[in-house]
Amino acid sequence: MLTAIVGINWGDEGKGRMVDLLSENQDVVVRYQGGNNAGHTVVNELGKFVLNLLPSGILRENVINVMGNGMVIDMEHLCGEIEKLTSRGIKITPDNLKISDRAVICMPYHVLLDSLEEERLKDKKYGSTKRGIAPVYSDKYLKKGIRMGDILDEATLREKVEDIVNYKNLLIEGGYKAESVKADDMYNWLKKFGELIKPFISDTGVFLNNAVKENKKIMFEAQLGALRDIDFGIYPYTTSSSTIAAYAPIGSGVPGVKLDKIIGIVKAYSSCVGEGPFTSELFGDEADALREAGGEYGAATGRPRRVGAFDVVATRYGCIVQGADEIAITKLDVMSYMKQIPICVAYDVDGERVMDFPIGDRLNRAKPIIEYMEGWGTDISNCRKFTDLPQQARDYIIFIEKAIGTKIKYVSVGADRDAYIEL
Ligand code: GDP
Ligand code: MG
Repeated sequence: MLTAIVGINWGDEGKGRMVDLLSENQDVVVRYQGGNNAGHTVVNELGKFVLNLLPSGILRENVINVMGNGMVIDMEHLCGEIEKLTSRGIKITPDNLKISDRAVICMPYHVLLDSLEEERLKDKKYGSTKRGIAPVYSDKYLKKGIRMGDILDEATLREKVEDIVNYKNLLIEGGYKAESVKADDMYNWLKKFGELIKPFISDTGVFLNNAVKENKKIMFEAQLGALRDIDFGIYPYTTSSSTIAAYAPIGSGVPGVKLDKIIGIVKAYSSCVGEGPFTSELFGDEADALREAGGEYGAATGRPRRVGAFDVVATRYGCIVQGADEIAITKLDVMSYMKQIPICVAYDVDGERVMDFPIGDRLNRAKPIIEYMEGWGTDISNCRKFTDLPQQARDYIIFIEKAIGTKIKYVSVGADRDAYIEL
């Protein structure tokens, strides 16, 4: 059974929370794209954890976790993350964590280049997390990447680093007029953190293909959401990788498989971190109240997230792009304080009512068409059955299900593992 858990919106929908919940009976959890530019928060009986690179299955003793070839990995950050979890009693060994030898290493010069470019852009910046993600994915496709497997090839590593650093300095020194990067420093960085990471590196495609053959239960964990996908998202305010379920087999190392189930995670309202068009955005007191109620501050960066009304146009589109079979709605409890619930039911683009998600300047010009539903005004965090929910909350769920045309299977009413309703 191959299941993908993916974001339908702009990210931070609660994917980590749902992977933690639904991985109970899984054999393997794989992260297939992205790097440490986002955070997945998991709250369970062991406490609260924020994971940037490690798959969320790492908190389950019986699950083997894979970091796939589609990822970009900052080894220094990974070492820190492993250390943090280990110090809290989580066991991480080559038996429960496997890192693809094809994953590309996010180097210190990628992080540097990310900052240099955001500085250069000033008020035209993209809102990068400055974790080196766009520079490292660019290098992957320029074929100037250093891959995890390269650090196992001692004999040729030094020369590889030298060649690539020379190339990178053309831009760092020549273009940005910044201080050049030293090949020695980069080599030493690779040696230092590589020593700790080496035991985890293998051809994870072999492992996963065998797992597929043995009919193991495999869960593919996405980072970010459909609207951040490099092809289908709000380009150029996207991330630099494919966040969609269709990429899961490729980014994991099992490109020939077909997913059995795609579970899309949708937030009961909208949130969006960083720059870019965000049509259903709320402002002023209304936004502050929702941000506070939802604790909408970036898990990786601490940045306040922009918040908005539930967006039918964007969410419908997200479901289509992801090919979602069923939906988990999260953070419904956060909206309990609202007397009236705003919903963006369509866009107005140049006076025309639009339901298909637009791109480019048409999206920039889109204005939200808002309708209101009645709030329920009572705490729902202890509800465990659909019928426990107040009628207004049920109406809201039913409205969304109809509007997005995809079955809602789970409703999350709290961050804790068991705070959910199965429909
Ligand atoms: P991810 O990036 O999709 O994994 O999501 P994040 O972890 O960045 O953001 C989701 C936040 O909401 C986390 O702090 C979760 O602990 C929290 N969360 C998830 N589901 C619920 C829910 O149903 N109710 C509440 N109140 N919080 C939730
Ligand atoms: Mg997140």
